[in-house]
Amino acid sequence: MPKLIDRFPHANCIEQRSAARRKLLNWFAAKQRDLPWRRNKSRYRIWVSEIMLQQTQVATVIDYYHRFMKRFPSIKSLAYADLDDVLKQWEGLGYYRRARQMHAAANAIMESYGGRFPNNYEEVIRLPGIGRYTAGAILSIADDQRFPILEGNTIRLYSRLLLMDSDPRSNENQKSLWEFAETILPRKHTGDFNQALMELGALVCTPTSPDCEHCPLQTHCPTFAQNKQSLIPAPSKKTNYLKTTEAVILVTRNNRFLVRKCLPGERWAGLWDFPRYSVEGNATDPHHRLQQQLFEDYGLVTTIRTLNHRIRHAVTRFRITLDCYETTSLQGRLKTRGQEMRWLSPQQIHSMPMSITGRKIADRLLHS
Ligand code: SF4
Repeated sequence: MPKLIDRFPHANCIEQRSAARRKLLNWFAAKQRDLPWRRNKSRYRIWVSEIMLQQTQVATVIDYYHRFMKRFPSIKSLAYADLDDVLKQWEGLGYYRRARQMHAAANAIMESYGGRFPNNYEEVIRLPGIGRYTAGAILSIADDQRFPILEGNTIRLYSRLLLMDSDPRSNENQKSLWEFAETILPRKHTGDFNQALMELGALVCTPTSPDCEHCPLQTHCPTFAQNKQSLIPAPSKKTNYLKTTEAVILVTRNNRFLVRKCLPGERWAGLWDFPRYSVEGNATDPHHRLQQQLFEDYGLVTTIRTLNHRIRHAVTRFRITLDCYETTSLQGRLKTRGQEMRWLSPQQIHSMPMSITGRKIADRLLHS
């Protein structure tokens, strides 16, 4: 059975492969974007940028990156920071597990490596939140170590260079793509080479309407030769979105609002939020049940009313409709049942790391 790599024209011709690498590196030298993490490439800085860039656009990451590096300029400062502070810096970037794992990894680096980010692949990949791609990216970009990479942009680029017409995210195809990534890697300048591949995927070999006219790999690309850019990569299976309705309750006492820290395993784990409950799909009048729930969970006897405020929000595969309520009367003593809960003014809530929708509501409170 022919190997997939053989679909890359001239794959077995060393001269042609070298020519393709040279063209790519020259293109990168001329066209790369000036990004903050490309200056002063320490393993720490590359790590922070790589974690932030997972599932997030470069344009969004830049401001967060500057703020994060200013607040946590070293692994030590990140490790010794309060997790609340780390989450506050991350607020709005989403996928908060990344921030929690970075905090845990910084602590592990302090404990096991005296605060120096390891430069050994086996040690790096054992750190929380670091997988094969991130370990390879950090060590190749910061140290020119010879490790391949495979992420969203390169999956698309490699699929086209290999004329791969089936789902590139299948296990079998992922294995082939990693093999390809390893095969095309040069012995030197692997950091620039890996970045050039990702940059080409981001700027030229884009999902729709790739700019093949200006692609340095055009003569090596069978997808271009067969005009199959719109067919490759094959679309992944459609995500089934889950519609859900939730209720958030502004429980008020002496101009302060009740907030709780979300528990591990909850959607916003580690962040703060107002009491929130899911509402049955067809519940038209959930007031009674919500009042009952506030009593059962927190020992509070309340009357609540609907606020004319509805937020629609998407988180991973959830499409959430969030209806807001407020208490109009409140009795009883708060029972926290081991949870972290606080009564806070809108100004105090402003400095807490909040869930995205919690932040939207808190901003309204602050400006009302
Ligand atoms: S020629 Fe077009 S499809 Fe092929 S790698 Fe370049 S941009 Fe992508």
